[in-house]
Amino acid sequence: MNAAVLTGPRAFRVETVRDPIAGPGEALVRVEAAGICGTDYRIWTGERPVSYPLIPGHEFIGEVVQVGSGVTRIGRGDRVAVEPNWGCGTCDLCRDGLGNLCLARTAVGIDRDGGFAELAVLPERACWPAPATLPPDVLLFTEPLAVVARAVGRAEPRPGETAAVVGAGTLGLLAVQLLRDRGCRVLAVGRTERRLGLARQLGAEATIAGAGETVATAARRLSGRDGVDLVIETAGTAEAVELTLGQVGFIRPGGRAVLTGLPHEPARVEFFWLVRREIDIRGSMIYREEFGEAVSLLAAGRIRVEPLLTHRFPLSAIESAIAAHRDPASIKVAVFPEGARR
Ligand SMILES: [Zn+2]
Ligand SMILES: [Zn+2]
Repeated sequence: MNAAVLTGPRAFRVETVRDPIAGPGEALVRVEAAGICGTDYRIWTGERPVSYPLIPGHEFIGEVVQVGSGVTRIGRGDRVAVEPNWGCGTCDLCRDGLGNLCLARTAVGIDRDGGFAELAVLPERACWPAPATLPPDVLLFTEPLAVVARAVGRAEPRPGETAAVVGAGTLGLLAVQLLRDRGCRVLAVGRTERRLGLARQLGAEATIAGAGETVATAARRLSGRDGVDLVIETAGTAEAVELTLGQVGFIRPGGRAVLTGLPHEPARVEFFWLVRREIDIRGSMIYREEFGEAVSLLAAGRIRVEPLLTHRFPLSAIESAIAAHRDPASIKVAVFPEGARR
């Protein structure tokens, strides 16, 4: 098969490698599409250490072409979305049902070969059946939507509440829609007017390019009280965390902040008002039980993803795809193996 093999930092080689084979309990999946996110970028630059050679890619979907012995839940010809993280199953956290927090987690495309290839082998548990009729461009968003489904679930939104979403990338634009689906009125905070326009198209009632006092002002205007009920941070930068937690009047007293972006730099936050107002700060780490929910939301057409897929490349152009991911004009970039169903 053809695969994009990372042989070192910033060094992809698109080459023919031996076809993988599904062992017991595993499925061989023909990749239809693989999305690129910030994690892939950090793997490519070498900031996130991996052992080489590695076929990265963790946001992908495809069709089962072979199953190993003992596989019962899926079969040949099934359309699947790949859940690329799973806990070890035996540690204290996994036994407590906290598999997303497991320290011995396996991540496809990071700890083992992933989806920047024509074929990938996965354990049965990682394969979530999806309707055959769902276009690849839609099903591709299952993994980021699962991240968002967990973050929104952690925020415990109630119909009629006001919410703000910080960041207007893939995760933020999915969060705007899911919060709307849950009956919230949403303020989207982003940096570029183009993305904020898209946020409005996708259901945000108000938008603001976050800087200075304006985020709190906008939150007060939307909510008619001293801040919105909940905020979901999706950008994963120290700056975005400071924006989320740093402005008095952005989150109302007693409100909730869910952080799902993973900032790699420390943030400076003044805690006085957070304590004084009993702001409830919650982390949200990938997904625990949300993968099936994400497939269902997409299958039911409750979340619009077509406007989010801005750039598509053949697998052989992986380097261009990585570059496009960094282009501010892109939202989601994906690679498609040559000959994959479109
Ligand atoms: Zn990702
Ligand atoms: Zn574990």
